[in-house]
Amino acid sequence: MEIQVHDIRKGFDGHAAALNGLSLTVASGELMALLGPSGSGKTTLLRVIAGLEVPDGGRILFDGADASHRSVQDRNVGFVFQHYALFRHMTVAQNVGFGLSARPRSRRPSRREIRRRAEELLALVQLQGLEHRYPAQLSGGQRQRVALARALAVEPTVLLLDEPFGALDAKVRKDLRRWLRDLHDRTGHTTVFVTHDQEEALELSDRVAIINAGRVEQVGSPPEVYLRPASAFVFGFMGASNGLPVEVRGGAAFLNGCPRPVADGIRVADGPHMVYARPHDVVLAPDDETGTGLRGIAEAVRVAPGLVRVDMAVPGLDKRLELDIPMSDAHWMSVRPGQPIHVRLTHCHVFGP
Ligand code: ATP
Repeated sequence: MEIQVHDIRKGFDGHAAALNGLSLTVASGELMALLGPSGSGKTTLLRVIAGLEVPDGGRILFDGADASHRSVQDRNVGFVFQHYALFRHMTVAQNVGFGLSARPRSRRPSRREIRRRAEELLALVQLQGLEHRYPAQLSGGQRQRVALARALAVEPTVLLLDEPFGALDAKVRKDLRRWLRDLHDRTGHTTVFVTHDQEEALELSDRVAIINAGRVEQVGSPPEVYLRPASAFVFGFMGASNGLPVEVRGGAAFLNGCPRPVADGIRVADGPHMVYARPHDVVLAPDDETGTGLRGIAEAVRVAPGLVRVDMAVPGLDKRLELDIPMSDAHWMSVRPGQPIHVRLTHCHVFGP
């Protein structure tokens, strides 16, 4: 099922608009992550797609047909919201069968069929044998999987997941991510999930939509949004970034008062810009072989697994650059806090000021 979200607006009384003319297409069978800061409108967007929230304007199309006025039941979506808890007084099997049991009599399967379906789904989420347990007798990760099985029980064509692994510890999260990707590949449901964890979005999804202030900032595959960010916001949101104000002249970027460029080969019009680089793209250049670069003062030197992090103060600017130096690059051993260092940017992005 393809989902088209067209120019959706949604406000809540007394607040700035949660969705600001947001448009987005999720391809049939795609696993899409919605990534964005807190309050950017991700949950509201899922709720509008599910039919739990009525937008102030815009349209939702399912496979090209206008679904804007369809009820939640008629949209055939399964959803797992972060605080959409399991029913405590029901067993695992009863929780999973709930959506089917609650159907009007004419569309309700027999009890036996519901039990069979619950068993099948519990096998799918790898919880066989736990049918008769109560939610309190399960781990957090198991509960999340029961919630997913419950969402899948109504045979949705679309699956909406709001921070499905939000409350879990790092190890369980990682396992469940892999498991969800696997499940998606087996079932092929069009799936949209909300996260504010960029690693989760990159690792799990076919495409990522970066949401900012109720609008889509960029949509693309994980490598696209990471390597070709459309804006400084996307660049900053996809990982740690270093930003410096520069003047671009003839394809080279100059810091104020610095005769040598910090980067060259830049394809933007001359004028003031911001240059951004990831910490691993700021490298030590002790021999100054390229004629480009930047002198600064090393502040902190910290050892992390496989790499050394150096904070460098940029003279004349109230700015710091962060460098991630692979431990295998022996140059880091000569870096001492308080000493000058010389770096260059091997890869950078330039956006307007
Ligand atoms: P988070 O990552 O923190 O869950 P989000 O990106 O999912 O955030 P939303 O929950 O969609 O953001 O909220 C978007 C904006 O709409 C926020 O400013 C929020 O305060 C506001 N909002 C959401 N629901 C309501 C509501 N029922 N009443 C009033 N304001 C709301």
